[in-house]
Amino acid sequence: LAGLTSEKGTSTVEVNGVTIGGKEIILMGGPCAVESSIQMSQSAETVKKAGGKILRGGVFKPRTSPYSFQGLGQEGLNYLVQAAKEQDLLCVTEVIDAPSLELVVEKVDIIQIGARNMQNFELLKLAGKINKPIILKRGLSATIEEWLLAAEYILAAGNPQVILCERGIRTFEPSTRNTLDLSAVGVAKELSHLPVIVDPSHAAGRRDLISSLSKAALAVGADGLLIEMHPNPSVAVSDGPQSLHPEEFVQLAQELGVVAESV
Ligand code: PEP
Ligand code: MN
Repeated sequence: LAGLTSEKGTSTVEVNGVTIGGKEIILMGGPCAVESSIQMSQSAETVKKAGGKILRGGVFKPRTSPYSFQGLGQEGLNYLVQAAKEQDLLCVTEVIDAPSLELVVEKVDIIQIGARNMQNFELLKLAGKINKPIILKRGLSATIEEWLLAAEYILAAGNPQVILCERGIRTFEPSTRNTLDLSAVGVAKELSHLPVIVDPSHAAGRRDLISSLSKAALAVGADGLLIEMHPNPSVAVSDGPQSLHPEEFVQLAQELGVVAESV
């Protein structure tokens, strides 16, 4: 199996001049959901200022409640792509099914498959048929083996460009939204050659823990971070409480040693 291997060392995923899994720590940031053109332009500006390489923003939102905001779809995709282009950043968005994959595949640099779809095997097979890197988040209650086997679906279908993302798992502890499983970084790296990034935002569910969890993630060997940041978290339509303010995002990047090209 390509993903589950005892070979030492990490495969790198190269995407339009950015290497994930190499020496450089890759910072990805942006809002949970794309809301407007101005929101995305401001987010892209902040990611650039922080030295981040990749702008995130959800346009198809797999929400727990059917009455929560479900994403702007095509319109949001345009805002994301345009904002990334303005700042010469790459962009990533989540897909939830075959039609959303089809819609975004030619427009974004990286495709995200979220925690709720980690075992959507038909979607994983489709992701294996495209020539774009896939960020595969760990399922809400998935074991590491299940997560790696989900990655294996993508690899086995022909796409070797998989980036694993630990985003917290469900435990008995209610103080945080999920429990960040830092051990999973080392275990996934031991069992597979794939790059592993960490999303402290969905793990913590609260912005006060993002800085320390990000540092901890890098200390245990994560290849990058996926962090939610919003120009004005208090009005965010989703995940505002866990989203960093722009100045906090820039400050964290500095503390992490992610150096901006020009500030
Ligand atoms: C997200 O990245 O906004 C998201 C929905 O994440 P997860 O799938 O980890 O819950
Ligand atoms: Mn979110």
